[in-house]
Amino acid sequence: MNKTHYIFITGGVVSSLGKGVSGAALAALLQSRGFTVRMQKLDPYINVDPGTMSPHQHGEVFVTDDGAETDLDLGHYERFTNVMTSQTNNYTTGRIYQTVIDKERRGDYLGATVQVIPHITNEIKNGIDTSEGQADFALVEIGGTVGDIESLPFLEAIRQYANQVGRERCLFLHLTLVPYIPTAGELKTKPTQHSVKELLSIGIQADILLCRSDRPLPKGEREKIALFSNMRADRVINGVDQRSVYDVITELHKEGLDDRVLEHFRLGAPKPRLKPWQDVAKLDTEPKDKVRISVVGKYGQLGDAYMSLKEALKHGGYANTSGIDYDFIEAEDLEGLTKEQLDERFADTGGILVPGGFGERGTAGKIAAIEYARTNNVPYFGICLGMQLAVVEFARHVANIKNANSSEFGPVDDAVIGLMTEWDKGGKSEKRSKDGDLGGTMRLGSYPCALVKGTKAAEVYSADNIDERHRHRYEFNISYKQQLEDAGLTFSGMSPDGKLAEIVELKDHPWFVAVQFHPEFKSRPLDPHPLFASFVKASLKHKAL
Ligand code: GLN
Repeated sequence: MNKTHYIFITGGVVSSLGKGVSGAALAALLQSRGFTVRMQKLDPYINVDPGTMSPHQHGEVFVTDDGAETDLDLGHYERFTNVMTSQTNNYTTGRIYQTVIDKERRGDYLGATVQVIPHITNEIKNGIDTSEGQADFALVEIGGTVGDIESLPFLEAIRQYANQVGRERCLFLHLTLVPYIPTAGELKTKPTQHSVKELLSIGIQADILLCRSDRPLPKGEREKIALFSNMRADRVINGVDQRSVYDVITELHKEGLDDRVLEHFRLGAPKPRLKPWQDVAKLDTEPKDKVRISVVGKYGQLGDAYMSLKEALKHGGYANTSGIDYDFIEAEDLEGLTKEQLDERFADTGGILVPGGFGERGTAGKIAAIEYARTNNVPYFGICLGMQLAVVEFARHVANIKNANSSEFGPVDDAVIGLMTEWDKGGKSEKRSKDGDLGGTMRLGSYPCALVKGTKAAEVYSADNIDERHRHRYEFNISYKQQLEDAGLTFSGMSPDGKLAEIVELKDHPWFVAVQFHPEFKSRPLDPHPLFASFVKASLKHKAL
């Protein structure tokens, strides 16, 4: 393999400009021009990983095969490139400091005074180094905004890195916002100018600017930005808001982003194949059908908390040339509703989904939704907590275990869902304790699951064995299996040792499948996850809009 080329992606002016999506789109372009890519996110916050952060604040926690709890941008990376990420694709300030402090305690620094430069910056560079030789291009995104105090060591590290490996092997791509000011009737370039200057004051000259705006950037503004930013006008790329996130790929190509990148590195390549991306983007903007999926959760109003779930549903829609009408329901709003009220609430619903979640609040509403789906033949898809509660609902209302519950919500008489303290991972035993740390102590990452022949799950996957990603602390309590089976619940997926229930389903129901894992993390726009494709299909059959 040739030496890796590094593309460092920074952001300016404001946060939430879509650095993750833009970087992933560039990676997809480079990939379709024949290069291999690897993506990394360096997050300046002090949490060791986002696992303990509220989805309200930080959005979804994306889980990798190797069980890292990472930033949701890694989900974009995987969806756009289909290159699996791992622990070394996401570093935070917390993790960097933790490593440095561990080394200091061990005496690795031989008595030196440990400082931000060079010890912290070296550790950041070690993180970046994990990409060397792994791919033709490493795209390294620095979280936050230039000018933040927290970002400084990261920016210093990438500046040093470029000197170290050679400026010709590095490219600095800076993302900014060019806001439209209605009263002036103009797009304003000043914030971009300031942001480029701020970056320069740290010693980084941007090579390419990606200017986000809600309308096309006129030639004059582009030239003005180029002049003040010390670069050619064709290196000022305009990223106009797109209706479909997958259209960003085509748009950035039209704007010449990948060509400018290759030019910078003096590399030639064939044209990209954009058709597959244009096809999915078209399904996003002009779907043939539409179906309403009611997602009963806790942070329903906050889209980012369910990023991968929303994407996976959308992909399931693609498989059926259908769009998804997301109906996010705050679980507590369903509590105490009568049958008539629920009929009304779900009148246009094609399918009900209860996603992953933590804590007792809202569970009564989720159980009401599950019972409604079960007894009214509405397709139901349970994920993680949505599986656990489906088991609780079935145990209470069908198997007659009145006090069935999960021990996550306090001491219970019949803990059909309970805390597992020891389980098998690849032949080795993993342990956790009831009072252990909350961070990184769940059953995390990819685990195998054996499917039972003749079940819906086996049919949907058309496989005998699958691997899916997990993120949970509680498990189905195997001592209730026989009792629930006798009452009619099918256990269609189990861990290979038969101790952990992975999938349950109902026979006499059009589509009722609940899984202990998170299939949404492995769905791809160009390869929709079979469970989501099948669920959307059943939902369309139940009620198309
Ligand atoms: N709270 C449940 C557990 O810890 C479910 C977690 C989830 O849905 N991700 O097991």
